[in-house]
Formats: sequence, structure tokens, C-alpha cells
Amino acid sequence: MFQNSLEYAKKQDANDSLAPFRNKFHLPTNSVGEPLIYLCGNSLGLQPKITSEYIKMVLEDWANLGVEGHTVAEFPWLPYHEFLTENMAKIVGAKPSEVVVMNTLTANLHLMMVSFYQPTKTKYKIVVESDAFPSDKYAVESQLNFHGIDPKDGLILWKPRTGEELCRFEDLEEIMKTHGNEIALLMIGSTNYYTGQSFPLKKITELGHKYNCLVGFDLAHGAGNIQPNLHDTGADFAVWCTYKYLNSGPGSLGGCFVHERHAHNEKLKRFSGWWGHNKKTRFNMRHEFDALSGAEGWQLSNPPILSMAAIRASLDTFADAGFENLRKKSEKLTGFLEFLLDEMKNDAIKIITPRSPEERGCQLSIQVKNANKSLHTKLTEADVISDWREPDVIRVAPAPLYNSFEDVFHFAGKLKEILK
Ligand SMILES: *Cc1c(COP(=O)(O)O)cnc(C)c1O
Repeated sequence: MFQNSLEYAKKQDANDSLAPFRNKFHLPTNSVGEPLIYLCGNSLGLQPKITSEYIKMVLEDWANLGVEGHTVAEFPWLPYHEFLTENMAKIVGAKPSEVVVMNTLTANLHLMMVSFYQPTKTKYKIVVESDAFPSDKYAVESQLNFHGIDPKDGLILWKPRTGEELCRFEDLEEIMKTHGNEIALLMIGSTNYYTGQSFPLKKITELGHKYNCLVGFDLAHGAGNIQPNLHDTGADFAVWCTYKYLNSGPGSLGGCFVHERHAHNEKLKRFSGWWGHNKKTRFNMRHEFDALSGAEGWQLSNPPILSMAAIRASLDTFADAGFENLRKKSEKLTGFLEFLLDEMKNDAIKIITPRSPEERGCQLSIQVKNANKSLHTKLTEADVISDWREPDVIRVAPAPLYNSFEDVFHFAGKLKEILK
């Protein structure tokens, strides 16, 4: 289906209805002003050109209106997070009442575990995938410690088999068969940051629920990349960040999903703040805490509007492009990358990401035999922005909003040259 030529790549770009979106982003450039081949949207997504306008609008409202901006700005700050909800809900496949933008990822993960990790004497263990992102593992271990549980006892790792890189669902089934009665929570990264493997979220949720465990996902590498269909999976909660595939700027706010079955669940413990309180009486200040129903009820503080403005700009861009179109292009673009890597017929490189598009997003993780970080340095010198993971993996993530088939073609050519 694919062809290994620049002409072919150019033709795909010419026929790509999403190609004009590339021009809506600031592309980092080299010393002579040519755009770099930016394949690092899995780490920090690029800046939409409209972002500065959205942020400037908030700055101007603040300058012109002061505190009144909370209510009379064109996009008033009091309900500002609500302007993000609908588009964000589409990105993760949830109902708007199940989604809120607040805090940052790891903070949200802790808030969710306060509510959804309620260990008892006999049912207290947490399952994570091995090679989970370090922050997730630290968060889970500290929750165990907080409840007086030694992580050596309380943490179960879902691991790839010896000699393999990917986790098999059957092995998770086996863990549940053996330890299901002791497990309280499954906390899985939906798309693994290292291998690029996307897990079957619905199957995992059904498996967990069968053993009366709660199930949460970290979508840091899923949101804006795959369509996780969170509502349909039935997951209890999920968290994600917005600075990777969601292009909302370094350290920007995170997203949080709470399934609607928990919307009015007053038995759930939670750490609360005034922003999670009934909007009608929030400013009366003297009311007992009265949680908003749904995900909004987990908010703590009045949020940083400047960061939310960047998220609003990015979500508007996604909405213009249409997530289904993006996903379709993404599969083709990553498929082209995979084809070109295979065409190199170089035994030193191995794609560790699953071959099936349903089991991955846009990222491919390329293992290079006997390589060290100098390979990454050479790629950088050749104007490629990729990402290096010890001991021997380059991660490249062609993002369908701003990467082109030509980008992918040039990357493959440069890698081939360097590996010669
Ligand atoms: C990027 C990433 C994080 C980062 O967490 P922050 O709280 O946003 O700093 C955590 N977990 C995963 C899986 C990630 O990919």
C-alpha cells in the first residue's frame, strides 16, 4: 500500500485534508530558519498559533476589568472550565458531566485514589503495569504507604514475559485469578509511554469489575492520541495531562474523568475544596460542603485561567480538525513510518510497539541494538527532535495535527544514514 519515495510522501500530503493544520502551529526551526522534524508531541506538543490570542484575551480582560472579569469577561472566569468541558469530553469519549479540567496529572491521580482506593484488611492491593511512568508508580506506592501498606506486599506488577516487551492481557487475567480477592484497584496507563502499547481499556475494566476491583486509567499518552471511549469502557476514573498530544503548553492543567455512576455517590471519600461546592451557594461562604454532582465536584481551587485559555485554544483546534479524521490520518502516518523502518531491512532495529493500529497510538518505539545516547544526539544534529529512553530506545510520535508524510520520510532517511 505504501511506497518508499519522497514523491509518494509529497502526494500523500497533497491529498491530506488535514495538511493545512500544520500551518496553524509554530514549528521550531534550525539555525537557518528551516522547520525541524518534530516527532516529540508525546512529550510536549507544539504551540497552536491561536494560543497567544486566547491568552492575550484573558490578560486584557484582567487589565481592563480587574475582579469583574470573573463575571463580565467575554469568557468569564468563574465558569471558565465549563468552556473546555464539552470538547474535552469528546476527546476522551465521555459525557460532559464526567469530565473536568483541573490541577495537574499526578495531583489528580492522588485525588482519584483518595476516592477510589479504599483498602480493607483483606482487599488492599493495587495492580499497575510494569514500566509504568515513574510518577504514577510513586503516587501508587505513596498511597499504599499512606494506608500503612508495604508496597512490597501491596503493589502487583503486570509484567511482560521474559524476552518480551509488551504486556499480555492473559497475564493480567492470570493475576486476577490468583489475587483478585486481595486486589482493590487496577491503575493502568492506557497507552504505555515507553513501548507505545495501548491496552484494551474495556476488557481491563470488565475484568477488574468481575473481581470487585475499581479500575482507573492514566491517559497521559492516550488523550488526543487514541480514542479511549471512557464512558463505554465503564472505567471508574481516569486522569491525563494536556501538554503532550493536547498541545496546551508546558505544565498546563490536567483532565479528570469520573464515571457517571459515581456522580452522586456520597459514600465516596474525597479531599474537597470550595470549587467543588454547589455553584449557587459557593460565595455565601458559610454553607456546609455540598459537592457538585459529577467530576466537577472534585475541583479544589479556582483554576489558573491563563493555562485554561491555552487549553481552550488547543481544543478548538482539535474540534476544527475532528477527532475521527485525526485518528484516521494518524493510523496512516504511523503506518507509513512503520513501513519505511521495515524497508530499511536493518537487523539492528526493532519496533517494540505493537504492529496492530488498535493496539497503539501514533508513537513507535524503536529499539536499536548496541546503541547509546549518541544516536539521539546525531538525530538532533540532523534536525530531528525525537526522544531517547535508556537503555536503547528512540521514541518517535508523528502527530497528525502538524506532522506530514514528508516529515516521516525525511526522518527515516536520516535514521538510515546515521545507522550506516
Ligand atoms: C507525562 C506523564 C506524567 C507526568 O505527570 P505530571 O503530573 O503531569 O507531571 C505522569 N504519568 C504519565 C503516564 C505520563 O506519561
